[in-house]
Amino acid sequence: MSRYWSPLVHTLSPYVPGEQPKIAQLIKLNTNEHPWPPSPKVAEAIAAELAGSTVDEAGERLRLYPDPSAAALRATLADVHGLDAAQVFVGNGSDEVLAHAFQALLNHRRADGSARPLLYPDITYSFYPTYCRLYGITPQTVALDAHLQLRVDDLIDAARTHDAGGVVFPNPNAPTGCGVARAEIERLLVALPDTVVVVDEAYVDFGAESAVPLIAAHPNLLVVHTLSKSRALAGLRVGYALGHAELIDALVRVKDSFNSYPLDRLALVGAQAALADSDWFTRACRAVSDSRAKLSAELAALGFDVLPSQANFVFAAHPRHDAATLARALRERAILVRHFSRPERIADRLRITIGTPAQCDALVAALRDILGPQG
Ligand code: PMP
Repeated sequence: MSRYWSPLVHTLSPYVPGEQPKIAQLIKLNTNEHPWPPSPKVAEAIAAELAGSTVDEAGERLRLYPDPSAAALRATLADVHGLDAAQVFVGNGSDEVLAHAFQALLNHRRADGSARPLLYPDITYSFYPTYCRLYGITPQTVALDAHLQLRVDDLIDAARTHDAGGVVFPNPNAPTGCGVARAEIERLLVALPDTVVVVDEAYVDFGAESAVPLIAAHPNLLVVHTLSKSRALAGLRVGYALGHAELIDALVRVKDSFNSYPLDRLALVGAQAALADSDWFTRACRAVSDSRAKLSAELAALGFDVLPSQANFVFAAHPRHDAATLARALRERAILVRHFSRPERIADRLRITIGTPAQCDALVAALRDILGPQG
């Protein structure tokens, strides 16, 4: 608290990112990064951008602002997704793209000035309530069902009951890893034609159905992607949104009122190189889903209830051991995972990022040791 702060700052409850440890020896399965480095083409492209026969030549590229419209990257993304460049928006990580979407598309009021709430699942990505506070949006949560699945009928009912001003959810959801079928999302878009629906596809490449093919017929759909997860580029901070040009224009207006140059030159060339290497992408996504299947089976064999995941993490509970204690015991063995506990909504659960096969083996061995012979 400070008398120097704007009143808004007192009302914020900022997102707390997962731990980024300083000790390299830890096995880090807590923030859903990719277990392998990105395509080697990315580092090559960034090095080439910084290369030159003289230091001045390299410096010259850093002296000038990058392209504010990121036209080349948007054209590539349009190509990857079979859309038009006017249907693509890029930003500094999908967190920033989502923040602009909250402000530009999901903050609506009635004629009398009262707020129309924004719907999102309970439980879900915890940045959504943070953005609601930042932008003065009223949240309205929609409970997952008893199996922790998001039901489209529940979203439609809540939207009508509360006169919602927008809907946002990750697909697959985080931290559950469970996806909603494309046909169900289509049903939602048809039922709420006047409401913007933002589908956050941060983890979609690991096995869920993308909503991108629905964009053509649904001007109320915005799909948000990131290169942080399936392209292994969390360090580069590149996210993007896909939708009708009318929605993209709103995001551009907010961006240009905030920071016209969200992507630096190195991120622009690195992202281009990552998107060009589709062999790396296909192999890496398959490797993660193979590891996920193996880890899920091994956790189940240790007595865990593991939700069927379509993401690069699993959400698992043990009937006899609380998640916080397990997470602490794993940390003592140099393995970082996240634990979630919301007694009113979910039993204690661990969210474990899929690591390399060796990291997953180390995790399973550590859990076997912690659980002991009785399990
Ligand atoms: N959406 C979801 C559901 C996430 O879990 C994350 C990562 N924490 C993001 C968006 C943001 O990813 P980034 O900003 O790295 O693109």
